Amino acid sequence: MRYDIWKFVGLILVAAVFGYTTEHVLLSMLVASIAIIGWQVYRLNLLYLWAENPKTNPMPEVSGQLHSLYRSINRTNAKNSKRKRQLSAYLTQFRKAVSALPDAIVLVDDHGKIEWANKNANTVLGIRWPEDSNVRFGDLIRYPEVNRLLEKANSKKPPPELGVIVNSTSNNEQTISFKCIRYTKTLRMVIARDVSRLVKVNQMQSDFVANVSHELKTPLTVLKGYVEILRDNPDLPLKFAKPLEQMNLQSIRMELIVGDLLYLARLEDSDNISPHEPVNITNLLNTIVDAVGPLIEEKRHKLELEIDYSLILSGASTELHSAFSNLITNAINYTPDNGVIKVRWRSEQHNGKACAVFSVTDNGYGIASQHLERLTQRFYRVDTDRSREGGGTGLGLAIVKHVLQRHAAELEIKSQEEEGSVFKCLFPQGQIVSTKQQTSALIS
Ligand code: ADP
Repeated sequence: MRYDIWKFVGLILVAAVFGYTTEHVLLSMLVASIAIIGWQVYRLNLLYLWAENPKTNPMPEVSGQLHSLYRSINRTNAKNSKRKRQLSAYLTQFRKAVSALPDAIVLVDDHGKIEWANKNANTVLGIRWPEDSNVRFGDLIRYPEVNRLLEKANSKKPPPELGVIVNSTSNNEQTISFKCIRYTKTLRMVIARDVSRLVKVNQMQSDFVANVSHELKTPLTVLKGYVEILRDNPDLPLKFAKPLEQMNLQSIRMELIVGDLLYLARLEDSDNISPHEPVNITNLLNTIVDAVGPLIEEKRHKLELEIDYSLILSGASTELHSAFSNLITNAINYTPDNGVIKVRWRSEQHNGKACAVFSVTDNGYGIASQHLERLTQRFYRVDTDRSREGGGTGLGLAIVKHVLQRHAAELEIKSQEEEGSVFKCLFPQGQIVSTKQQTSALIS
């Protein structure tokens, strides 16, 4: 900088001396200043041309301040090019990794247009990249459930993960699982996976269990019949009485398990669509209470009923009967003598939405929190001995879960060890037929 200033001052001084000898000092200095400014503008223009395209234009030979500027621009350019090369290498690597995934991945912008898709998007969804760039996702994927999923992901507070499983419309054999995640303000990632094999394996497993249960039914009935005949035989030697009694109890247990397994298989069968008709829950609960009456008496429990008898549900009455009676029987079995069991059927608000709620509350043994998530799995028991004592098959809550799924309802379990449990079945508004409130309370 200093060098440039001295250079310009020197030039002006030379011009002034020259002006002095020719008696035109000011004119001479003015001409020298204009020449200096013109020269600087010319050099700046060279810098501009070079900075615009440093690869094709050679770096001009300059000195002083401009030379430092050239060098600084040159250094920044070199740094930026290196960073650009690095970023583009990362991007290529990331795209290669995403393309190698077995899932189809499609990025969709906030207008529903395709921003990018990996190779497998073509195999699973028929979306080709880059041919389908900027095409609306909904125009290519015509599953209403999936498009609803995308809309949900665009909402102000989307759930962390959204998913749906659909059967392909073009190929009956194909089932696709879709997941949608919003990962920037404007971009959503759709991940699709072909789960046809998994569905088939699950189906085969269910079919196998159903077939085995079915095959066991007849031999079991025969065995049970003979055991009963032998047990009732007055000439039976005394030493056989106890083993036969045990055989009888175990065959009854096996019959119950086989019955429950067959019932579960029927609930799992998606082709088996049960009729959805208005169900009078009051009548249904009265039947269950009559059936469990002797058990309640035996354990000297107090049963409290609170029923909104105007609340009518649309559903399959036999399935609801089975689910509700499982919950009530569990409350009776897993509560020590002289317990209190409250059964309620009423409207309640859940997450700001009106629901029809069937709940069973007991003050029994309760369940430790680590078991709660697994309770609805087949044969999952907290205390196997206690379950067997009460004649449990370990399938009751699995049946409850399936029945509720078939009624678009949810099971909510709250429990504390040694305090008791609350099992709630939450039925959405869409399942309710009538809601005029008329509550009755019965205590037995
Ligand atoms: P089970 O036929 O053994 O009762 P379920 O599927 O109905 O099978 O229940 C699974 C397990 O959950 C039971 O074995 C029991 O340990 C626990 N359970 C269910 N209901 C209750 C309850 N009301 N109180 C305490 N534990 C319960």
